[in-house]
Amino acid sequence: MKCVICKHAETIPGTTTITLERDGLTYVIKQVPAQVCPNCGEDYVDEIITGDLLRSAEQMVKDGTQVDIRQYVAA
Ligand SMILES: [Zn+2]
Repeated sequence: MKCVICKHAETIPGTTTITLERDGLTYVIKQVPAQVCPNCGEDYVDEIITGDLLRSAEQMVKDGTQVDIRQYVAA
């Protein structure tokens, strides 16, 4: 797809790092599959994946986790 930020390049499949911060939790997930713009570096992550990550973040907040860094593992 065409990058909506710079409108100059087509995105290519790659991976990115997502950082979620909420309620005292910092959750970093590496190697998340994404479409990446080779021009400006903007990344686009599938909503299904983001939804999954947000759900695990909510569980971590309940468990009292403050920091977690992990590699993305496909469900
Ligand atoms: Zn771009």
